[in-house]
Amino acid sequence: LDENADPTNLPFSLLQDITNHFSLDHQIGSGGFAVVYKGVVGKCMVAVKKLSNTFAVPENKFHEEVRNLIRAKHKNIVRFLGYCADMQGKMEEYEGNLVMADQRNWLLCFEYVCNGSLDKHISDASCGLNWRERYQIIRGICEGLLFLHEKRIIHLDLKPANILLDGHMVPRICDFGLSRCLDKGQTRLITKSRCGTLGYMDPEYLRSGRTTFASDIYSLGTVILEILTGVKRYLEEETVVQSWMIRLEASVGDMQLEQVRVCYKIGIECMNLDPKKRPVAHHIIDRLDNMASADCSYETGTNSSLVELHPSLSSEQLGGRLATERLRKADAEEHSKILED
Ligand code: ATP
Repeated sequence: LDENADPTNLPFSLLQDITNHFSLDHQIGSGGFAVVYKGVVGKCMVAVKKLSNTFAVPENKFHEEVRNLIRAKHKNIVRFLGYCADMQGKMEEYEGNLVMADQRNWLLCFEYVCNGSLDKHISDASCGLNWRERYQIIRGICEGLLFLHEKRIIHLDLKPANILLDGHMVPRICDFGLSRCLDKGQTRLITKSRCGTLGYMDPEYLRSGRTTFASDIYSLGTVILEILTGVKRYLEEETVVQSWMIRLEASVGDMQLEQVRVCYKIGIECMNLDPKKRPVAHHIIDRLDNMASADCSYETGTNSSLVELHPSLSSEQLGGRLATERLRKADAEEHSKILED
């Protein structure tokens, strides 16, 4: 498990050893498709993700995703250390007889990211992240996403729960790829052709099922606004957002306020209902960099407060919100029908 070596196939017994046989006290958490364990290797820690529902996924799909993870080497992407794709025989009772059944042990091993996921840091009103940290987190997420897009990888489930923070609060994007085909839980909406998390999903993708890089940009917009406001599913709670904006304005200096405004504007632009009008990741990074080094009032073109910016910028979004609600309802019905089937 050398951090500098290329990720390789790891023996199941090794992963079993370092997680103390996948014991409860090593469990970090679980999601819709996996349980994550802390693995201890000498003084270092790793995160071992043990996948469930593996029989729902063709083997070549797993290996394709492993190849994607291997390619995704970047400071803002959680570092992939290795994988295990074992098939073991296991005795199971079937109609009163003991039979030999196959058991797939599919595991992924990542660096352990010590500060947990971003949602834990922004869900609390007194989240304790100052503006500088929020800015760095936004920029880091954009860089990670740009990298994925350059590698022709679409995340499709970008959200604060899938962004981990390291000891220096540097963001690392995780959970792309496999999550899309394995989840059977209710946290994500998965239909025959679509999956993602409600509230972060591109309405256009929800409507058509067509996957594009712009879908990730929409999710990026929701994440940026959540980082700025602390409010989940930003568009649904306008009054809360406004009170947050007032508090945010009061807590930063004039120069920073302009930066907050630019980020806010970028977030709204990312959520444009027309995917073609959304900015691309490298333009967003350029704007963030310009803004960090210059007076950026030209960007917003106004000295109005964030609360004033809010209604004018969101009117189009509000129309979209209703449309999204209808689509969600329709898709949720389709989803429950699939689950029932
Ligand atoms: P879902 O995948 O259904 O959206 P999730 O993202 O919470 O849910 P997992 O990705 O399986 O589920 O993660 C479970 C828990 O393990 C989460 O709390 C997550 O923050 C944590 N975790 C995942 N990977 C790591 C890692 N590399 N380092 C530290 N903690 C991790």
